[in-house]
Formats: sequence, C-alpha cells, structure tokens
Amino acid sequence: MCLQTEREPLEAAAKSQAYEEVPKPSPDDVLVGHPDSLDAFWKAHPEFLWGPCVLGALVKGGTMIPGVAAYLDAHGMEPYGFLNALHYTAFALILSYAVHAFVIVHAVPTLKIQSKLGYNKEPRAMIARSNAAICTELVFAVFPLAPASSSWLQFWASVAVLAVFWDAWFFAAHKWAHENKWAYRTFHKTHHLNKHPNCFGAYFVTYQSHILLEQAVVLVACIAGLPRDAFSFYMYLGTLGTLFEHCGYELGSLKLPLVPLTLGHVTSALSFYAVGFLEGVNAAEHDWHHEKFTTNYALSFKYLDKLFGSYHPGRQPGTGLTAHASKKDE
Ligand SMILES: [Zn+2]
Ligand SMILES: [Zn+2]
Repeated sequence: MCLQTEREPLEAAAKSQAYEEVPKPSPDDVLVGHPDSLDAFWKAHPEFLWGPCVLGALVKGGTMIPGVAAYLDAHGMEPYGFLNALHYTAFALILSYAVHAFVIVHAVPTLKIQSKLGYNKEPRAMIARSNAAICTELVFAVFPLAPASSSWLQFWASVAVLAVFWDAWFFAAHKWAHENKWAYRTFHKTHHLNKHPNCFGAYFVTYQSHILLEQAVVLVACIAGLPRDAFSFYMYLGTLGTLFEHCGYELGSLKLPLVPLTLGHVTSALSFYAVGFLEGVNAAEHDWHHEKFTTNYALSFKYLDKLFGSYHPGRQPGTGLTAHASKKDE
C-alpha cells in the first residue's frame, strides 16, 4: 500500500484530447451470482463477522497473559481503542466510495491503464465484499500500540520501517499465495476474479487473505512497539494508496487546481521516503499483476520484484485508444 509515484505527465491526458473509440464498461461476468448487498454477503460469508471477533478475542486474551501484560505495561502500550478503530474504518469505507466517484468524474480515458475497457461504475458485488472486509478493521480496537512518537524523526522512521516491513511480508506471502496451488485457491484467487481493476477491487479479498496480508502484519508491528501516530498515518495514507493502485487509472499526472502541482507531486511528498532503492510501485504495475497474475508481487516498493526477477513496468496508460489500434500493447 504505497501511494502511486508520479509518472511523466501525459500530454494527451493533460489536454484531455478526443479519442476515436468509446471503450465499453467491463462486464465483470465472473462476478455474476456473487452477493451484491452487504446483508447478503454477510449471510453467505459469516467468517467476515465471526473471524474478526475470534481474532480480537485471541489478541485481547493474549494481552492479558501476565508476561505479555508486563511487557505492554513496561512500554506504555495500550489498545488502539474502539473509537480510533471506528474512525479509521468509517474513513476507509467513505474513502473507497470517494475515490470511486473521483475516478468516474475526473479520470480521463487517456489515463486508463487497460484502456480498451471502460471503468465499471456499478461493481455491486465488489462493493459488498469490499465493505465487509473494511468493516473487519474494527479488530484494531484491541491491538496494543505504543505511545505516540516523541519526535518527528521517530515518527517518520517508524512509518518508513513499517512500510518496508509490510512490503517484505506482503511480497513473500503474496508470491507464496501465487506459487502454491492450495494457498492460491484458499487465500488469493478471489482477489483475482476481476482481471480489470476497480477501486472496490482493493478490498475484494477473502478474510483469510486479509488476516495474512494485513491484520497479522499490523499485529506483529504493534507488538514490536509501533507508535500509535505512525500506525494511524500509515493506515490512512496507505488506504488511499491501495485504492489508487486498484483504480484502473494512473492518476499521478492529474493537475491540481490553482497550484502548478499534480496529484502525483502531493502523493509522492507524503511518502517521501519512497526514493532510491525504495522506489514506489504505481497503479500500472499492480494493474498488470491483475491482468497477467505472474509479476509484480510487492505492495509498496519495486526492489524485491526486481531482485527476484518478477518485475514488469505494466502498460502505458491510454495505449490503443484509436479506432485502428493494433495489438502492439498486448
Ligand atoms: Zn496476486
Ligand atoms: Zn490487487
């Protein structure tokens, strides 16, 4: 979950020039028959309700074990709290709709990554599962977190260490979930039912996969002493990042009003540690992972995929938006 890095501004996108062929929305046939309301989804997948309750009870019970309780006390660590968890959960739910609406209103066709397919404006089945997955984040209420950072240096260092740790964990677990047939079927196949990413695809996951790739990582980081302000910052910003990564568009070159800055300038500044070998991933790369399955396993940075030979730069947005488009971009 890293905010997409800025790409070369696309002249065509900036001018929002006319294109010859109107792409049709992706039909998402593979999702036909999936529950398309939250009530129906919870009925079909009660693990999204009892799963976080069990995890929460285990964490709460664990923190009451005398040795663990003494360790937490010694480091001033306390539960994140229900209100904080509720605040983040509500933010993430609203943000997923906000980014979806932003894409529909502001993203021009020349920024579309799989440009021959239109954006699905009503992915109801994806919305139901995404909402249910985000609601499970309430489990963070019982996760023990260290006091807020005592300096800006500690704050940014904690954010950067969490980003690198989470990315490495995600890379290893994600690669395994693709290379092991049982793991793919059990954990990850659902996330790949849609080969044409959409904002609500970011949290279109099984609860097992959500524990493995998110909640377990957070729990380990919390026990290691993650300051609560660094956790909040990373989660709020990271949620925006993962929604951008799955939105189907490269939004980095969109110009902001009044100032000579693009959206990419702002998002890059907020994750300024993503430089050098920690170069951040962008939407086109993760989009390619959904389209082709076998590359770009990392969450935030490119270096692990480059190191293990699984890196691909993805499609150039807007390619093939002409009536005489060839198959060159395949
Ligand atoms: Zn995958
Ligand atoms: Zn994905």
